[in-house]
Amino acid sequence: MMQQYQAIKSNHRDTILFFRLGDFYEMFEQDAQEASSLLDITLTQRNGVPMCGIPYHAAPGYLARLLKAGKKIAICEQTHIPQAGQGIARREVVEIITPGTIVDENLLDRTENNYLVCIGRVDDDITFSFIDLSTGNFQSTHFPFDQRETCLKQELLRLAPSEVLVQESLFEEDPVLEKLLSEREGTVINRYPDWSFNLNSNRTRLLEQLDTSNLKGYGLSDQAPEIASAGVILDYVSDTSRSMLTHIRDLKIYSGHSYLGLDESTQKNLEIVRNLNDQSKRFTLLEVLDQTRSALGARKLKSWLLQPLINLTDIDERLDRVEFFYTNQLLLTETREHLAKMFDLERLSSRIAMGKAHAKDLLAVKMSLQQVLSICTSLDTYQEMHIMLKDIKSQYRAVNTLVELLDQAICDEPSILLSEGNLVKEGYNLELDRLRKIKENARGLLREYLEEERKKTGISSLKLKYNRIIGHFIEVTKANMKFVPEYYIRRQTLVNGERFTTEALSRFESEINNASEKIIELEREIFLKIREQVREQIALILSICHFISDLDVLQSFAFSATVQGYSRPILHDGVGLHIEEGRHPVVEANLPGGAFIPNSIDLGEQKSFLLLTGPNMAGKSTYLRQIALIVLMAQIGSFVPAGEAVIGVVDRIYCRVGATDNLARGESTFLVEMNETANILRTSSDRSLIIMDEVGRGTSTNDGLAIAWAVSEYILNTVRAKTLFATHFHELTTLKHDKLTNWSMAVLEQDGGIVFLKQVKEGPIDNSYGIHVARLAGIPEEVIKKAQVILMGLEKKKFDTEIQEMTPVQSLLFSPLEMIKDDLLSLNLNQITPLEALNRIAAWQKELEGEDKK
Ligand code: ATP
Repeated sequence: MMQQYQAIKSNHRDTILFFRLGDFYEMFEQDAQEASSLLDITLTQRNGVPMCGIPYHAAPGYLARLLKAGKKIAICEQTHIPQAGQGIARREVVEIITPGTIVDENLLDRTENNYLVCIGRVDDDITFSFIDLSTGNFQSTHFPFDQRETCLKQELLRLAPSEVLVQESLFEEDPVLEKLLSEREGTVINRYPDWSFNLNSNRTRLLEQLDTSNLKGYGLSDQAPEIASAGVILDYVSDTSRSMLTHIRDLKIYSGHSYLGLDESTQKNLEIVRNLNDQSKRFTLLEVLDQTRSALGARKLKSWLLQPLINLTDIDERLDRVEFFYTNQLLLTETREHLAKMFDLERLSSRIAMGKAHAKDLLAVKMSLQQVLSICTSLDTYQEMHIMLKDIKSQYRAVNTLVELLDQAICDEPSILLSEGNLVKEGYNLELDRLRKIKENARGLLREYLEEERKKTGISSLKLKYNRIIGHFIEVTKANMKFVPEYYIRRQTLVNGERFTTEALSRFESEINNASEKIIELEREIFLKIREQVREQIALILSICHFISDLDVLQSFAFSATVQGYSRPILHDGVGLHIEEGRHPVVEANLPGGAFIPNSIDLGEQKSFLLLTGPNMAGKSTYLRQIALIVLMAQIGSFVPAGEAVIGVVDRIYCRVGATDNLARGESTFLVEMNETANILRTSSDRSLIIMDEVGRGTSTNDGLAIAWAVSEYILNTVRAKTLFATHFHELTTLKHDKLTNWSMAVLEQDGGIVFLKQVKEGPIDNSYGIHVARLAGIPEEVIKKAQVILMGLEKKKFDTEIQEMTPVQSLLFSPLEMIKDDLLSLNLNQITPLEALNRIAAWQKELEGEDKK
């Protein structure tokens, strides 16, 4: 047996081999050492070989833990068990489970896709494909090699793959790729040999899988780079799953230009599907918007959020459908109820395609399809839904036939094993019914036989029982042993009695056994045939999944709009961005009702750049992000948290926030900030929306101001994108440009303190209120006072030294009169001591004298 083990293991060196031995999966040698520590199970030894084992029925739990630790597992089953004494069982690896190829629902999160990604190089391009084997979602793209860093960062963050296949030489020779991948914690990286990325062989592989004679229909030429990585993925998944992949019938080719671009930092900073704090879904746009009722819908919503549309017609089509549900609330409620009763049809279909579905799965398919039919029947009565139902309508008959087949054939509460019977409904198969009758009759005959025996022996307590070891038997208590007739054959002795059989009982028994065995075998056969019939309809089921997941997201938008009071945005091809009474969807949802203060914006041809000043805590970041989120929501087809929104479709949204460290990547705060700013300046267009929050904060004041100034000018003059720029640098408000408009967060000074009104107003702010905010935060009064004194000193020093070294433009920014005015206005007369006041006046006098001398 160990020789057999070694032979199998030598072909699966990079996996942990689960070697089936009776009711256990055993692991040996290195595998046993690794698994015992990861799974916390006992490591033993036999003949010096380390080993450990787990019961086969408990395998899923252990598998999940190994997969989480990034391991691959080869499942080796006994495929033939010989008669006693005739050699060892035949064993084969029937499946390799890797983190990126899981299809078992118990090992997956229902609301998350599980992606396997493949990256390679074809000439000057990166070829990039991904698949979710559990749903059949298979997509591919390519991008220029010199843009790989930005593009890969964006895609890897969006997809969060659990496994990546990467072309070996690319990984080894390209430091950018090596760095990008090695910093992805929790993702398994597999190097794949260069020769497997060959275009010719992969083209053949793809043609075979997609069952087509050329790839033109998919938008691919014969030399398209996509072919390489798509082919490698297919190779890998068919090799690991060792089953048919009939649910993979489509390959979607996409490009960065098909969707609104959201680079890595924008995805993070807008907290679209993960928050910045603990990377969970809490306090994200996804959490607020997710009113989906099915797992399919939940996954689709997530992918829509990260790939907003840019085509006006497509966006309007989604919005029309949302509006339809929004205005038909009864239908909305009804549809939601049906959707909630659906099972995960996508994952069920992948299990059917791969020959892993059991009878309960088929029952789930039936019940889900019944819901689909109910949904379609109600939608069909509305003219507005006819286009959406167009494709699905022609399938009604086929869906009905499938539902009928499953309804007639599969038991209402079937077994999940094929070896126990209880799969097929009565009335579906004549032979099966006949065998069942024999079995049932035999039971009746047994009951009659027992009565006869009781009479014959006079033992009224005589019992007829069954156990798996000796089968049926008659049990006699000790007290009645004297009445036992001679033809009783002793089988077992108990403390309180004896167990017997008789010839007649053995005859009944073999009749029952024969019928039972035949029933199990026949039920298995029938079930496999039915599963095959369902498998032939996989394309149909997948098209239904597509329809239902879209529908679920659209109804979810309508429901959110109803509950949260969103309104339909108007989208157009122009550049204008006009939002009345906009709200931040996530902040609003987490504040008591009505507490959020709405704000508006108007950007376009005339004014494209909004410079926003205001103290900390005044609501700048919230305002900036709410604009970006409203645009994003509109472009995924959702209603938006605003009184009115008229939005010119944007091609990209950038959201850069100053001062976030990426220490894990070995990049300083400032370097990260500048990298991202560089990316924005290089890749944005006049159709983009740029949100910059505190850019330039990561370095010294002068450097920071200089950079913020130059960046603003570059955007205004060269990029001309719609921009919202929040800054602490008041000096920036003196930047003059006809497309720039100065706004600020309103602050009310009251009783020596300040109140944030959370409202934007036209015009810059005249004070940074930093020390006021510190007081609000509970900094001890002593420290606050000291800070005020230091501030005065600093401002004075600024006059004394910096002014003289300034260029004419800068000295304009720092006019002493302006600064004295600032200083004067910020004085709190209720708190300042007479001595402090005199000192200040003296300092001002000195400034003005200096100014006069100049
Ligand atoms: P900092 O510069 O320190 O980041 P900020 O000016 O960007 O501050 P925000 O972080 O946007 O301020 O907002 C501060 C707090 O005020 C947040 O906790 C938010 O919940 C609340 N807030 C912001 N805007 C509004 C609003 N319009 N209505 C009600 N509450 C708001």
